[in-house]
Amino acid sequence: MEIQFTCDNCQSSVEVFPSLNASEINCSVCHHTQEVKFSNDHLDGNLIDCPSCGRKDFYKQKDFNRKLGVALFIIAAIASIWTYGISLIVLWLLDLFLFSKIGNVAICYKCNTNFRDVKNMSKIPGFDHEMNDRIVYSDHDFEGKPLEH
Ligand SMILES: [Zn+2]
Ligand SMILES: [Zn+2]
Repeated sequence: MEIQFTCDNCQSSVEVFPSLNASEINCSVCHHTQEVKFSNDHLDGNLIDCPSCGRKDFYKQKDFNRKLGVALFIIAAIASIWTYGISLIVLWLLDLFLFSKIGNVAICYKCNTNFRDVKNMSKIPGFDHEMNDRIVYSDHDFEGKPLEH
């Protein structure tokens, strides 16, 4: 499992691999340290609790670069004026192709830590607005039991 923390202090991303010896991580940009707690689950690649905030509520999403997607769309849209829309079809096909190749990333609702190469990814649900609002704005803890719809 590969974990990408967000520095509390400067919002830079700090990438680490789980290790039982590590009790804190160090931001390479501002040298701020923050506590983390790894367990054997993390070493095995299973995401049960968040090593940063201890919560159990995560969602998964496709691990693609949004900015790149938007840039490609704008280029294709402009090019479609000269290509009679063919560039948009090409982009759509490219999108289908890329989408099937791209893996998932799991994200902690509470602290936005990102997790890649998660073994139990199939058990992690997609993003839920209601859960997000309740966790972020009223600090609710779902304790790993997602809302049923
Ligand atoms: Zn920092
Ligand atoms: Zn967290």
